[in-house]
Amino acid sequence: MINTVMLIVSFGFMEFVAWSNHKYVMHGFLWRWHKDHHLNDRQKMALEDMQFSGFEKNDLFFLIYAIPAIILLIIGFANNNFHLIFIGSGITMYGITYFLVHDILIHQRIKIKPFLNHHGKYVQAIIKAHLAHHRPRDVNDFRNFGLLIFPFHFLKF
Ligand SMILES: [Zn+2]
Ligand SMILES: [Zn+2]
Repeated sequence: MINTVMLIVSFGFMEFVAWSNHKYVMHGFLWRWHKDHHLNDRQKMALEDMQFSGFEKNDLFFLIYAIPAIILLIIGFANNNFHLIFIGSGITMYGITYFLVHDILIHQRIKIKPFLNHHGKYVQAIIKAHLAHHRPRDVNDFRNFGLLIFPFHFLKF
């Protein structure tokens, strides 16, 4: 039971990590790694025209996130420490979710049919909120740095 809670908490905590990292690091001193993700998108404003466009420098962040999860899992398995294993799994599951939602569902870098249509209200709101992040009115207008949690008004139609 406690392990399930740890899994869910570490998954949820990663949304906070992703939000703060996106806001203060990626749009801060490591903007040079994140910039191509925004440029890439601007050249292909129409979602329909987007396709897998190779790798972005922005993908380096995935590697950086994977390192602590891998270390926790290795130490956890080596010492039979289930707390570490569940925390490491929570981080990994968030990483996979982020990739599925952000890179496949929203940006459609790889086109997988079932991911293209039939989204529920919550998923549609996630997409809208993230696309709003990609369409600022000016350089200071970036908003919605989170992914799974977003301002409530995106849920209204
Ligand atoms: Zn951004
Ligand atoms: Zn994006």
